[in-house]
Amino acid sequence: MPRHIAIIGAGIVGAACALELLRDGHRVTLIDPGEPGGEQAASYGNGAWLSPSSVVPPSMPGLWRKVPGFLADPLGPLSIRWSYLPRLAPWLARYVRAGSTVARVEATARALRPLVADAPERHRRLAEEAGVPDLIERRGLLYIFPSRADFEREALAWRLRRDNGVAWLELDEDELRQQEPELDRRYTFGVLVQAGGNCTDPGAYVAALVQHAVGQGAVLLRAGATGFRIAAGRLQAVLTSQGEVPCDAAVICAGARSRHLARAAGDRVPLETERGYHAVITDPDTGPRHPVMPSDGKMAVTMTRGGLRIAGQVELAGLDAAPDWRRSEILRDYALRTFPNLPRDLPASRVKVWMGHRPSMADSLPVIGPATSCADVLHAFGHGHVGLAAGPVTGRLVADLLGGHAPVIDPAPYSPRRFH
Ligand SMILES: Cc1cc2nc3c(=O)[nH]c(=O)nc-3n(C[C@H](O)[C@H](O)[C@H](O)COP(=O)(O)OP(=O)(O)OC[C@H]3O[C@@H](n4cnc5c(N)ncnc54)[C@H](O)[C@@H]3O)c2cc1C
Repeated sequence: MPRHIAIIGAGIVGAACALELLRDGHRVTLIDPGEPGGEQAASYGNGAWLSPSSVVPPSMPGLWRKVPGFLADPLGPLSIRWSYLPRLAPWLARYVRAGSTVARVEATARALRPLVADAPERHRRLAEEAGVPDLIERRGLLYIFPSRADFEREALAWRLRRDNGVAWLELDEDELRQQEPELDRRYTFGVLVQAGGNCTDPGAYVAALVQHAVGQGAVLLRAGATGFRIAAGRLQAVLTSQGEVPCDAAVICAGARSRHLARAAGDRVPLETERGYHAVITDPDTGPRHPVMPSDGKMAVTMTRGGLRIAGQVELAGLDAAPDWRRSEILRDYALRTFPNLPRDLPASRVKVWMGHRPSMADSLPVIGPATSCADVLHAFGHGHVGLAAGPVTGRLVADLLGGHAPVIDPAPYSPRRFH
């Protein structure tokens, strides 16, 4: 039966939910105080990777030994702000525990794979539907290493990928040079995941998906959701800064800001922000042919419509702390060292910087499924490092769950009840 469904948040997850629910004949209202695909959303500034190989959780065995270093080095690739530690501690303990054994990370990788396995193809279809096919590219994703030994040092990560059906091509120094002639000589080994893809402008892409949803009848309400009116276990309305939105069901996809909404629907969830940054060098003239990830930098270096985007860093400092723009400078400098022909002495006007919030669960798996106190409210947040890639299948899963269809993928690993 067609229903009126309110979608809270118009990032990639909300946009994909809207399109899949419209496909099933439902009436949709999208609620977001910001511009769809705007700078407030993680979906705007991410690394733009649509990576079927993103099955390796950020918390891996041995992480606990590195925590003192995360606290000591405020500009390291992963850092923890001392002042935020007291609030972070319970989440951090769960995060470290989630990656503490090989068996645990194997289970997480198995659960992540269905979310990303066919991400490039699902995005291609959505982009085509929305009339922006040029925003999705499929030229593979290239991981680069100083040497083969450095690749072999990541044996567990690559074993997790292989066990989950990720295939790749190994490139020796000559082959790597042929693929990436501009790459600095210190990289002598590469791994090309040919099935990978990328988006050339994630913000514009989300905006186009939402516009397409509106073209099909969705209503876009510029408001912040604050809670729910629930009577006798059934949803009556979403409460917003612009008044109540009466509806039959609601989906929480407010990214890193979903925690209080989940609480209002009866679920305490260990959701944190892993803050990340980007730098975009405009009109770079040169750069990589593929999206590239240097093993010694752990950042995505991707050519986008706006310029060469370098995205990465994890900063655990909460939703409200001011950005530390030195992190974007680190990303920019890394790209200049990785591609030495990039223009030097860049004026500030040629480098755009951004900081945003990965919505990160302590166990690196999103929360997708009905809320505890009201089955009409569905959670769909917490995609951490893989939310752009996983958006489309999440949208399909949400539509299947709300429509009572056979789910496109098994929802069990993402259940909100796993935290009870
Ligand atoms: C530096 C960086 C690099 C990344 N690289 C990649 C990558 O290469 N590939 C990949 O797959 N993923 C990547 N990610 C992760 C990915 O960007 C996120 O997982 C994904 O964008 C989350 O999408 P979302 O729709 O859940 O949240 P968001 O995109 O954050 O959207 C949430 C929306 O909810 C709205 N909202 C908030 N509160 C409310 C409220 N109360 N009421 C209504 N609306 C509200 C916000 O305004 C926002 O528009 C990266 C993230 C970062 C930060």
